[in-house]
Amino acid sequence: MSQVDPRRLIPRTDVLLALPGVAESGLSGHVVREIVRTAQDRARRGDLPPEQVEPTVLAAVRAQTATSLRPVLNATGVVVHTNLGRAPLSPSAVRALVAASGYVDVELDLATGARSSRGAAARAALLAACPAAEDALIVNNGAGALVLATTALAHDREVVISRGELIEIGAGFRLPDLIASTGSRLREVGATNRTHRHDYADAIGADTGCVLKVHPSNFRVEGFTSGVSVADLASLAAEQGTVLVADLGSGLLYPEDVLPDEPDATSALTDGADLVIMSGDKLLGGPQAGVLLGKAEVIQRLAKHPLARAVRADKLTLAALEATLTTERVPVTESIHADRERLRARTERLGAALDVPVVEHGGRVGGGGAPGVPLPGFAVRLPEAAAEALRRGEPAVLPRVREGACLVDLRCVPEDDDERLTAAVRAALSSIDSAASTDSTNQR
Ligand SMILES: *Cc1c(COP(=O)(O)O)cnc(C)c1O
Repeated sequence: MSQVDPRRLIPRTDVLLALPGVAESGLSGHVVREIVRTAQDRARRGDLPPEQVEPTVLAAVRAQTATSLRPVLNATGVVVHTNLGRAPLSPSAVRALVAASGYVDVELDLATGARSSRGAAARAALLAACPAAEDALIVNNGAGALVLATTALAHDREVVISRGELIEIGAGFRLPDLIASTGSRLREVGATNRTHRHDYADAIGADTGCVLKVHPSNFRVEGFTSGVSVADLASLAAEQGTVLVADLGSGLLYPEDVLPDEPDATSALTDGADLVIMSGDKLLGGPQAGVLLGKAEVIQRLAKHPLARAVRADKLTLAALEATLTTERVPVTESIHADRERLRARTERLGAALDVPVVEHGGRVGGGGAPGVPLPGFAVRLPEAAAEALRRGEPAVLPRVREGACLVDLRCVPEDDDERLTAAVRAALSSIDSAASTDSTNQR
């Protein structure tokens, strides 16, 4: 009796590729071929019965979404979480993104058929939201805005900056290196903890391209410190015939009562800054973008510089930013202002449903904003081992791990997701329970 080699029963590549559901999946050829090859290889190794190859391929094609980025429930209490993509967009910004995904009149006047200025609507929305600015420009991100500003204003010349503001913005990127890469020379003044008006005055001269004031957004220097205000620097810059650029980082357009120490564009411009730079996806709560606001003459110099083309914002950003600026309260603002009693009630409901303790927990602004400003709230406390199970679960949940505990904070979880979150935590707890009981069985 001759046995058929089971490997001969593995469906052929062309047969699998022609399956309805594979052929019409819309996935690109190399993605589908990889799925097919993986299933065939498993069958050749004997890890998958040959008759399971076809259903395995079909299931893998179905499971393959267009992006491998996974939505995450942010249970850290950190509102602008850089590793989670910073600001979540508002529903109206999401609709604007979708609407802008096809052909749109981003650079066209439909009435005349003539070319129009790119992103005019987003620029108008910015100026309406920040009337203290004479003009505005939107670029790819905050770092791009800073590179454009220092290149256009200070290439081959000096950028005067306090030693207390030579910050690293994250992932090893340092503002001084970024500025130096544009061909400007840094003229450092003052000391780490104290810089005075006369330090700037002594440094400003014929070689000065601009004075740069950077909001040291991700740390605080306490004790014997002093800096020079935007108003003082602006009057000094004006006296000396140079421009003052204020890099605010965090992105408030006007003062925010719960974050009294965070600088905002309106105040900086009213105090005399010629140009203000900030990010779109921090406290502004919009898409990744660099927002430049200021004097018309300065903005025009930047807009006309060749580098402006290299850092220009895409149509999706422009659409989402415009929608963000015309939304009453974006998710970032909602999370920062989350009502304490409402948070307590939601957290207690979660704690009661799962029989776990509720503790006080301080959220944070994050993303390099408002360091040291706690946002008082609550969390349920779980065993530390729950953290990994939560991250690996569906939906994925990112909790905060601190002092040997896993804390689940609802501040940044939309209330509509409370039930999904409860189910996810329940599943995580039962998976660590069963892992613990397997462990103890094995030990016996
Ligand atoms: C975040 C930040 C930047 C960089 O902005 P991105 O939008 O992340 O490129 C620059 N300066 C300051 C002060 C910041 O806080």
